[in-house]
Amino acid sequence: KKKIGVLTSGGDASGMNACVRSVVLYGLSKGCDVYAVYEGYQGLVDGGDFIRKMDWRSVTGYLSIGGTSIGTARCMPFKTRDGRLQAAENLIKNGIDSLIVCGGDGSLTGADLFRSEWDGLVGELLKTGRITSEEATVFKHLTIVGLVGSIDNDMSSTDITIGAVTSLHRICEAVDSVDTTALSHSRAFVIEVMGRHCGWLALMAGIATGADFVFIPEQPPKDEDWETAMCTVARQHRELGKRKTIIIVAEGALDRNLKPIKVDHIKDVLSDRLGLDTRVTILGHTQRGGSPCAFDRILGTVQSVAAVDAVLASTPDKPSPMIGMNNNQVTTKPLMDAVKLTHEVANAIESQNFDKALELRDPQFLD
Ligand code: ATP
Repeated sequence: KKKIGVLTSGGDASGMNACVRSVVLYGLSKGCDVYAVYEGYQGLVDGGDFIRKMDWRSVTGYLSIGGTSIGTARCMPFKTRDGRLQAAENLIKNGIDSLIVCGGDGSLTGADLFRSEWDGLVGELLKTGRITSEEATVFKHLTIVGLVGSIDNDMSSTDITIGAVTSLHRICEAVDSVDTTALSHSRAFVIEVMGRHCGWLALMAGIATGADFVFIPEQPPKDEDWETAMCTVARQHRELGKRKTIIIVAEGALDRNLKPIKVDHIKDVLSDRLGLDTRVTILGHTQRGGSPCAFDRILGTVQSVAAVDAVLASTPDKPSPMIGMNNNQVTTKPLMDAVKLTHEVANAIESQNFDKALELRDPQFLD
């Protein structure tokens, strides 16, 4: 009988609960035992009550709850071999041989590292008498499957990550609210959104709310003097009769010289050069929260069914899979390839190779 552990790790994302629910319900329906590991990798390292057997009713109501009800954490001990040794012991003592991890690229890197070290960890646990030779034989292999839960939509090899669309909805709601006051007072607003080094949230929010100008890390303004370029556009829009000016800035936005573009500087430019009454709104954590939208509930659910199927189909010689979404199809790709490409995107941005960054992130270029 397969014993599957499921955990959520890294930044919370709406739809993670749909994943946990679906792993539990589909896993049970396939005859597996399913365990939730609470508080991400910290729960794996701490063991005890952090690892709990789930039944059909454990996940009642999960679909509509944002964030993750089994908790998430950034866990330093899991980054050390000692921490992972402890985590391996806890898994074995609970009889768990498969782990489904829902998190961002860091969490998935950790998961794959854990699997690659598994042989050595089991050997050490046996040598030091922490597990029996029977346990070492039964738990010879660890199966890892990755689900990408992140509001940033920053993972390569998948079109969309779990939680990104809900976050986009929150941003749109917030910009709509700001619009009300912007229109009433004929003001300008500079709105900073999350996304780390990825501009997906900012760009999509810009389109969805009809923003005047958007700054993203992947495509810095072509002009060295981006201030003038932005003011020209904003002025044109005003001359065409617009009563509001909305500038959306990704938190990782850069100029041509890879210097961060700061919201306060944009505000000063709009005030000084165009005489606009300008305010800054940093959306912050409001954009992570709230009930997941239908898309993230569906994405979390169907991808987790694929994750359990991947566990059941796994063999020791196959690389750990990552469940993705490409061209509206659920896909299964090698986890490490996706993580490697994601890091290559970051490197390409750092070396100002923006076309390459976009190419690497867009999965269509990979197939
Ligand atoms: P987000 O995209 O929301 O930031 P993430 O999964 O990338 O999510 P991280 O903080 O990078 O978030 O990683 C979450 C946890 O995964 C870390 O706290 C750590 O426990 C584990 N982890 C990350 N990188 C590694 C690594 N290289 N080796 C082992 N564990 C890691």
